Amino acid sequence: MLSMKQSVAVATVVFCLGSPYRASGDSPVPASRARLARLPLGSVTAQGWLKTQLQRNKAGMGGHLDELEPEMIGKPFVDRNHRSPVCPGWSGEISGTYWTGLVQLAFTLDDDQLKSKARKWVAATLALQEEDGYLGSYRKTENRLEDYSAWSANWCYRALLHWYDATGDEAVLRAVHRGLLWFVKHWDGDHKTSYAGPVLMESMIAVYLKTGDARLYHWCLDYLRWLDRHDQFHHGMASLQRVALEYNEDHVVAFGENVKHPALIYAAGGPPEYLAASRHGIEQVMAKCWQCTGAPASNFEYLSPPSAVHVTEYCNCSTYLNTFSWMAAITGDACYGDFMERILFNAAQAARKKDERAIAYMSSPNQVQATMDSCLFSNDNSFEVYAPAVHVACCPVQSVRIYPEYVRGLCMRDEAENLFLPAYGPCAAQFVSAAGPRVTIREETAYPFDETVTLRIRASTPWRRSLMLKIPAWCKTFSVKLNGVEVRGPVAASGYLPVQHAWHDDQVTIRLEMAPKVVAVDDVYFAKESLRAVECGPLVFALRLPEHWTAIKGTPLTALPKEWSWYEVSYVTKDKPAPPPFYALSLDELARKPIVKRRCESAYPWDESPLKLVVPMHRSTHGYPPLRDAQKHTLMGYGNPVTADAASELVELVPIGCTTLRLTCFPVCK
Ligand SMILES: [Zn+2]
Repeated sequence: MLSMKQSVAVATVVFCLGSPYRASGDSPVPASRARLARLPLGSVTAQGWLKTQLQRNKAGMGGHLDELEPEMIGKPFVDRNHRSPVCPGWSGEISGTYWTGLVQLAFTLDDDQLKSKARKWVAATLALQEEDGYLGSYRKTENRLEDYSAWSANWCYRALLHWYDATGDEAVLRAVHRGLLWFVKHWDGDHKTSYAGPVLMESMIAVYLKTGDARLYHWCLDYLRWLDRHDQFHHGMASLQRVALEYNEDHVVAFGENVKHPALIYAAGGPPEYLAASRHGIEQVMAKCWQCTGAPASNFEYLSPPSAVHVTEYCNCSTYLNTFSWMAAITGDACYGDFMERILFNAAQAARKKDERAIAYMSSPNQVQATMDSCLFSNDNSFEVYAPAVHVACCPVQSVRIYPEYVRGLCMRDEAENLFLPAYGPCAAQFVSAAGPRVTIREETAYPFDETVTLRIRASTPWRRSLMLKIPAWCKTFSVKLNGVEVRGPVAASGYLPVQHAWHDDQVTIRLEMAPKVVAVDDVYFAKESLRAVECGPLVFALRLPEHWTAIKGTPLTALPKEWSWYEVSYVTKDKPAPPPFYALSLDELARKPIVKRRCESAYPWDESPLKLVVPMHRSTHGYPPLRDAQKHTLMGYGNPVTADAASELVELVPIGCTTLRLTCFPVCK
């Protein structure tokens, strides 16, 4: 535990573009071609329910994973004597991902204790940098030229660059720069790997844009060209430019990381077709793998077709949210903000224990069990159970970074300092404009549980810039008022509505009408007649099933303290082995009877949703096998449409993020 004396506040430097640090002989800092940039870490902080969630995360996994798995998560990078039971690249990945999340959690929550914890890690990591610049978790006796060496170093560097972003500590940028140059030297020419190693490009481009050291940029360019000749994992330009990807050919996280690299190189000055390739790669995965929850299907972690009973690995949620956040910045297109909201509020939140003390590695839209043997798409037991740190702990640590990264992506700005809101949520943004005024914007909202967002803007002297408000693609009716007066004007092709004003002490009210709707859902087992899901705004709704939670010992690498546990969650019990009743939607009836919104008081939205939907439904035969059991069933659907009771009943649906066990995709009545 940190003593009070240690946990002093870390000063957050609010600084403008540019940085005094240059490596000797470097050219001037190049201009990024990204349309937008995020504000420095710490400029946007969580408020409202987002703040409550980050506080729960601090008390839960976010604040404690390094203590629960010290050898794998706490020590790599700061203690080369750590006893890692897995390969060094794996523990390096998992540890570095945790610290990437922790640093961002500390500053988006503006929490001194967490900042102090992060600072200790940063100092200890820098202290182990070697003479030749090597900065990473590999010991001298381990193979620093293997694929995972770059992948694991990438996570360490992301964490350090977030720290630099928040504090402006030049020693940290200098250390990462030297670490990257070690890879430039040792991974030149054909000394490259084609799977996870290229991911180091994110840090290479970030540091190039801060230092102007062209060696970093050229290493990335060379790497992408090299990948076209060594493209067995389909991360090269030629693969991204194909009409379609193939199932099983790539790991879904590796794809999600790699797909943004051409766009990053474009942002640093590369050719425009690079940006087009990244856009197209995202279209490829969305066309063939996308679930109704806004995330890819990843059975066995590989590219899979969508289905109500196929699973998403938790890592996908954080990886793709980060990729969307980069694409929102580089392209300036609002659609990527929509994708960020959808993957976070649905796929990601549906796999979190609501007290933030466990997550599921794998989860699906229709889920009746989450037990040691319920997952049919894994190489091991335990993939669907809830645990703070399953032994393959990539997903638990990824769950720490996703909410802070979302908060950071709520505000971006362009070179002229117009402020863009690519996504919504309760937050506060503070910055000093290059034009002089200090600006504070408070975003007050229960979004996505409410359709109204209020912005309170204060500027120390009038601030003459545009606020660029995203109008989500799902929103057909909206209104924007500035100090009570309706704002008219076309929404730009990018999806943003500009609001111009000399901001001083003003209020903007945005109303994004959320109309419940029934949508067809892609499902590989139901090619003739689609299953249906119910949406409202960015939220997908589900029938929450009763949950029976059972604490189990599990197989953690390090025994857990008594207040932590693994859990099995099931609808069925020994006493009640029958599967849940099944429901179908009558499309004729829904055309006549609208879905009704129900509002209620809520202290915390994922415990008790402030917004529920009441939907007429019919008890029916099962659309597919109700329980997953590899011994007894194929997964082929029984058919759709289904035979259903004539009488309908009113069924309450809640956001899928409020559920652990659920039915999200429904057949239709004959
Ligand atoms: Zn994972």
